[in-house]
Amino acid sequence: MDSVGPLSRKLFAAAKEHIPGGVNSPVRAFRNVGGEPFFVHKAAGSRIEDVDGKTYIDYIGSWGPNILGHAPVVITNTIHEVAKNGVSFGIPNPFEVEMARTICNWVPSVEKVRMCSSGTEATMSAIRLARGYTKRDFIIKFDGCYHGHSDSLLVAAGSGALTHGEPDSAGVPASFAEKTIVLPYNHPEALEKAFAKQGEQIAAIIVESYPANAGFVLPQPGFLDLLRSITKRHGALLIFDEVMTGFRLGKAGVQGLENLDPDISCFGKVIGGGLPVGAFGGLAKIMNQLAPDGPVYQAGTLSGNPLAMAAGLAQLKELAKPSGYPRLEELGAHFESGLRQVMEAKGMPYRLNRVGSMFCLFFTQREIINVDDVVKQDLEIFKKLFWGCLNKGIYLAPSPYETGFISLAHTEADLDDTLSVIEDVISTI
Ligand SMILES: *Cc1c(COP(=O)(O)O)cnc(C)c1O
Repeated sequence: MDSVGPLSRKLFAAAKEHIPGGVNSPVRAFRNVGGEPFFVHKAAGSRIEDVDGKTYIDYIGSWGPNILGHAPVVITNTIHEVAKNGVSFGIPNPFEVEMARTICNWVPSVEKVRMCSSGTEATMSAIRLARGYTKRDFIIKFDGCYHGHSDSLLVAAGSGALTHGEPDSAGVPASFAEKTIVLPYNHPEALEKAFAKQGEQIAAIIVESYPANAGFVLPQPGFLDLLRSITKRHGALLIFDEVMTGFRLGKAGVQGLENLDPDISCFGKVIGGGLPVGAFGGLAKIMNQLAPDGPVYQAGTLSGNPLAMAAGLAQLKELAKPSGYPRLEELGAHFESGLRQVMEAKGMPYRLNRVGSMFCLFFTQREIINVDDVVKQDLEIFKKLFWGCLNKGIYLAPSPYETGFISLAHTEADLDDTLSVIEDVISTI
C-alpha cells in the first residue's frame, strides 16, 4: 500500500494515542482509501505542504471554505487587523450587522439571518425553528444528503419505503429518529406518498440544494420545484441546506441558479473565510420566532464572532468582483473538458458532474440519480486514482463520496498539470 512521509506517520501514531482515531473529523482518517493521512503545516494559494516537506495541488480547500485558495492575503491581513482589537466580545459587534446585511442582499429569500459557529448548528437550529413555527414534529430528509451531525439528522432510511428513519449513529435514540422520514433523492413518487400519508404532521423538508456529500448529485428537472410546491400545499417549510453551495456557486447559491425561494436557508463554510461559522436565515415572519423575540430557543457563545465575520466579509468582497464567480466557472469548465478528454481517450466508463468550481468523477456507466448509483461505482479504481495522484503531488478527496473544489488561486497551469497526472495514473489502471 502507498503511504505518506515518516513525519506524518509519526504524528499520526502520536495522534492516535490521545485523539479518537487520530483525527477530529472522521473523513480525515483516510479510511475510505485505506491508508494513513498526511499532516499539513502550511498552505498557500492552490498548494498545501505536508510536515515532510512535500507539496500538493489541493482540491479540497478545507472541505469548501477556502474558495480564494489557502492563506489569501486579504483574509490573513483582515484577521491580523481585527484581532488586534480583540478576538471575541460576547457583545454585539459591527461586523455582525454588515454580514447579516450582505447575506440578506445577496440571497433574496433571506430577510433575517442568525449567525452560529458551524453548519451543524445551522441545520439543527433550522429544524427546531421549522418545528416551532409549524407546531409539527416530523421532518423529511433524503438518503445521501448530509446536514451535519445533530440527532434529528443522523438518520438513515428504515426498512420498507415509507417507514420512519433509523438512527445512523450509536447514541441517537430511536424515538428521535422516528420523527425523521428518510426518502430517496430524485424520487417524486416517494415524496408524494409521504405527504399523502402524513402531510399534516410534516414540519419541513430539508435538502442539500445540490447534494455534495455523497458524490455530487444533481436534481432531476422539476424535482426542486416539486419540493417547493408540495411543501406549500401542505403548510410545511422548505429548508435549503446551502452550507456547501452557498456563496460558492454564485451570490445566491443554488437557489439563485434555480430561481427558487426556500423558506429557510442554511449556510457555513465559504461565509467564514476559513474560520468556524454557520448561519441560517429566511422570511422575517419565521425568523422572528427565534429567541429573544419568539419562543424558539437558540444561542451561541461565539456566534457572530468578529474574526469570523470579518474574514468572511473579506472573502465575500473578493467573490463579488468580476474576477470572482465568472472566473471560477471558467476554471471549472477548463478542468471539466480536460478531464472528459482524458477519460474518453482511456475508454473507461465514467460520469462527471460539475457546476462552477465543484466537481465529482464517478467510475460507473450508471446515470447518477442518487446515492444508490454513487455506491455502485468501481471503488477500487477510485482508490488507485487517489493514491496515484497523491504520490505525484495532487490531493483529491480521500473518499469517493466527496466533492472536489477548485479555488480562485488555481491556475490553468495547475489544472493542466493535474490532468496530465490523472492521465498518467489512469493509464496504469
Ligand atoms: C459541511 C456541511 C454541513 C456541516 O457543517 P459543519 O460546519 O461541518 O458542521 C452541513 N451541511 C452540508 C451540506 C455540509 O456540506
